[in-house]
Parts: sequence; C-alpha cells; structure tokens
Amino acid sequence: MLGVSMDSIYNITYQDLEKYFININEKKYRAKQVFDWLYIKRIKDFDKMSNIKKDIIEKLKKDFYFDSIDIIKKESDIDVFKYLLKLHDGKTIEAVLMEHDYGNSLCISSEVGCNMNCSFCESGRIKKQRDVTSSEMILEILKIEEDINKRISHVVVMGIGEPFDNYLNITKFIEIVNHPLGIALGSRHITISTCGIVPKIYEFSEFFYQVNLAISLHAPNDELRSKLMPINKVYPLKELMKSIDYYIKKTKRRVTFEYIMLDKINDSLDNAKELCLLLKGKNCYVNLIPYNETENLGYKRSSKKQILEFYDVLKKNNLNVTIRREFGKNISAACGQLKSSKEIV
Ligand code: SAH
Repeated sequence: MLGVSMDSIYNITYQDLEKYFININEKKYRAKQVFDWLYIKRIKDFDKMSNIKKDIIEKLKKDFYFDSIDIIKKESDIDVFKYLLKLHDGKTIEAVLMEHDYGNSLCISSEVGCNMNCSFCESGRIKKQRDVTSSEMILEILKIEEDINKRISHVVVMGIGEPFDNYLNITKFIEIVNHPLGIALGSRHITISTCGIVPKIYEFSEFFYQVNLAISLHAPNDELRSKLMPINKVYPLKELMKSIDYYIKKTKRRVTFEYIMLDKINDSLDNAKELCLLLKGKNCYVNLIPYNETENLGYKRSSKKQILEFYDVLKKNNLNVTIRREFGKNISAACGQLKSSKEIV
C-alpha cells in the first residue's frame, strides 16, 4: 500500500511541512492551508483541498497518504467510553474517553503491547509488537472527536504501552497536536506517564514543550519496586529520583507520582512513611490510585480504610496528595486493564 518514501500526512510537523513546500519551490503558507484542511476542516482527501493548485495536490499525493484507524468496538459506562481501534495493519489498541466537568479527556495508547512487564498490569501481558506512530496517535484523537462530535480537551498517554520506549513518535506527536494552526491542544493539557526510563527523563527535561510528566512509582523502596516493576532493576530509585530532580530543576514543573494501592503489598503505613521520606522536598504531587483488579494477576485492591490512612500519613507530611476518581470499572477501561488483542484480519 505504501511507497517507500511516502509518509502519512498526519505524521508531519508544521515546520517540516513548511520545509517540504519550500523544497518544491512553493510558498510556505501552503503548510497553513494543509493544516487547516487536516485539523480544522478535517477532510480526508487531497482532492478536497480546493484552495491548493492541482499540480501541488498531485505532488502531495505522490509524497503522502492518508492513513486511517477504525473503531471496531465501543463500550460505555458512566462518563466513560472504551474504544477498540484497528490500525492499518490489523493490529489493535485501545483508547478511553472520560467525560469530566472540565472537558473530555482521552487516554491514548502509545505502543501495540508493552515490554515493561509490570506484574500488576494487564496491558503488559502482551509483548510489544510495534510502536504506535505519531500519526496513529493523532488519529486516535481525530477518530474519537469525530465519533463524539465534540472536542477533546485533555490527552493522557496512559493507555497501552510505555511512551518513553517510543520516544521519537511521542515527541513528534506532541509537536503536531500542540500546533496552534492544527489541533492546538495546549501543552498543559497533555500528560505523559512513564514507568521510569531514566535516560529519557533527562532527554525530556530538554524538550521544548512543557507537557505534564507523571511517574508510575508504586513502591517506596527498591526491593518492593523491583518485584512489581522490572524496569526498577535497570533504573533503581536513586537514579530515577536523580533524573526527576533534574527534570524539576530544568523545567520548573511539578511532577506527578502515581501510586497504585495494592492490598498488603505496598499499602502499609510504614510504606507511606517511606514514601514521604523519598519525596520530601520535591515539587511534586502524589496520586493514589485504587488498584483495578484484573482476573489474571492475583493482586487485590487496598481497602478504603487503608487508602484513607495512607493518604493521611502523606497529608500530615505535607505532600500534595489526591485519591484518583475511578473510571470504567465495569468495562475494564481502567488503568492497566486495557489489552491489545491479537491481530484482527
Ligand atoms: N507505561 C506507562 C503508561 C501506561 S500505565 C506507565 O507505566 O506509566 C498507566 C498507569 O496505570 C500506570 O501508572 C500504571 O502503573 C497504572 N496501572 C497499571 N495497571 C493498573 C491497574 N490494574 N489498576 C490501576 N492502575 C494500574
């Protein structure tokens, strides 16, 4: 289907599109026109770009194609919709739409499968098959906006996959989605969540776009974290915290730490105290996530009482802390319950 040198039109940044037009001896304002057709008017056919000359359209058609993704299943619960999406090669990913009072937030997948192997996470049970490209991440948004006929105001990269294991696509996606002449999603409305790939946290500290960074922490010491998250054996807490300190210093941004509450695993009050020591003095915010139980993995959610006591210890130690509101429990749309299924032909 795709010529070797062809690229998806959703894969090109505004700046590169300007360069493209300059290279073919055209005015760079053509980039503005194309972005307008793609992201404001939302057309899916070069021939409909009626203010662009025929010969340029022909050239565009030779160099780019329109890729698409299809919704193959949509399930709903109160305020939440889970989408199963099929990519051009038949691979499937999931995205979850949450309706908040402040707008519609979309949780997108960044990889087909995941190699991080966190022991509590359903999404990681299927090995990574490939990266989700930046154009496919853009299309997750376009497709779902088309389906609901409303704008998505917030995007969280917390679906299937580890975004920092797909760094180039993620950063390009941010650049495209944020551009004021395109989808124009504000960088403060974009959150990237990582299990802690340290070199990428350093790299991300230098990244121009000031999006939110969330770290899946889930344990206050190496022994426990390595049991839950194999990545901790590669990048233990000391190194992870050093990279986060650097990120905070460099970007002057607050980091979010996610901490799932697993019954009798990481939810003791001693764990809470240890967590306070680990995060003391950091410009951060802790999000306690009641664990969403999955059939296959055997972990239990902490009791409400335990979560509240854990919360109190953090509060008393002056940490900014919240308990995450639950979404999509009835349709397995909650964090870590998303699955990328086998190929669908
Ligand atoms: N790979 C990235 C993003 C995907 S996971 C990361 O690790 O951050 C998004 C969040 O959901 C992570 O914090 C993850 O640890 C958490 N999570 C995974 N399984 C969960 C479950 N069953 N219940 C609640 N949260 C879960």
